[in-house]
Amino acid sequence: MNQDKKDIRKLSLGELETILNSMGEKSFRAKQIYEWLWKKNAHSFDDMTNLSKTLRSKLSENFSIQNIQVNSMQKSDDETIKNAVRLFDGNIVESVLIPTENRTTACVSCQVGCSLNCEFCATAKLKRMRNLTAAEIVDQVVVIDKQSREFFDRPLSNIVYMGMGEPMMNYNEVVKSIRMITSPQGLGMSPKRITVSTSGIPKMIKMLADEELKVKLAVSLHSAREEIRNRIMPFSEKFPLTELLESLQYWYQKTKSKITFEYLVWKDINDRQTDIDALVRYAKRVPSKINLIEYNPIGESEFEQAHPAVIEAYTDAIQQNGIVVKVRRSRGKDIDAACGQLANKSLEEI
Ligand code: SAH
Repeated sequence: MNQDKKDIRKLSLGELETILNSMGEKSFRAKQIYEWLWKKNAHSFDDMTNLSKTLRSKLSENFSIQNIQVNSMQKSDDETIKNAVRLFDGNIVESVLIPTENRTTACVSCQVGCSLNCEFCATAKLKRMRNLTAAEIVDQVVVIDKQSREFFDRPLSNIVYMGMGEPMMNYNEVVKSIRMITSPQGLGMSPKRITVSTSGIPKMIKMLADEELKVKLAVSLHSAREEIRNRIMPFSEKFPLTELLESLQYWYQKTKSKITFEYLVWKDINDRQTDIDALVRYAKRVPSKINLIEYNPIGESEFEQAHPAVIEAYTDAIQQNGIVVKVRRSRGKDIDAACGQLANKSLEEI
């Protein structure tokens, strides 16, 4: 594919209209093309059958459609599917399909690698190469929707921005992708079924609240004690927990949507009563629920899943304080598709 041509999906509908007008075409052609690109997910100008052949070839002389391709697909024993997805420039990211009894969830990536440095996450060990475009994020959703229909006989029901990368560090494209996924001109999915997960960048959380997208927010907290959080998530030194809390209160005030705290419990790191107390105190200050996630080992590291009795102590204390808590079992662990395990490992096997 010619990489020098401009990716047509980088244009807004308005920009597309201007270009088509300058080619002597009517404005409604822009709408038709836009629909092919975003609603019908066309991967070639030749697919756009309601356009004249001349217009189609003019478009392909001037533009490209930089779609993604599934490079390899692995299926877990629990039916989770992990896709290694090749971007037009050869970079690879991973997207995961997670089936449960009555849902199919797509877990999508938003960056090649990650610029944050969480000590327990495999993706953090990869250098951040670049941000994904909105189109590349939408393409992942389309791929997983197709797989859901093919393998589970039902359309995709939920989307989580919990793959590789930090959504708030690719803010504009992530927001644009959400608009394309939810708008009637795009895939037309309900925003209530979309969750954006962030490691916690307060300024961007406030910005996202102002977008009025109606999506859900999850925050990877892992410790409500500053010194511990700074140690396991060093980037967080710049974002004190009080500032994070204030942005979450703002989020709730604007959206009336409860925050989900994602929380891992490790031996000797956050397995004491003081850690439990700190979490409860923190979570009580904003309408929220808590997901205790199982830790997925990522090779040699100091991190080790806490004893089940500690998890129980956490759940008891959280519940006693009137907060909803769920213990989340990992999916796709055997194929390194679980949380924090996405690191393009499958490439070594190709
Ligand atoms: N950067 C965003 C989006 C990634 S979501 C964020 O941090 O929220 C990936 C989730 O998996 C996060 O909650 C992250 O903290 C968690 N995670 C990272 N490494 C993990 C591991 N080894 N085991 C289990 N969960 C992990």
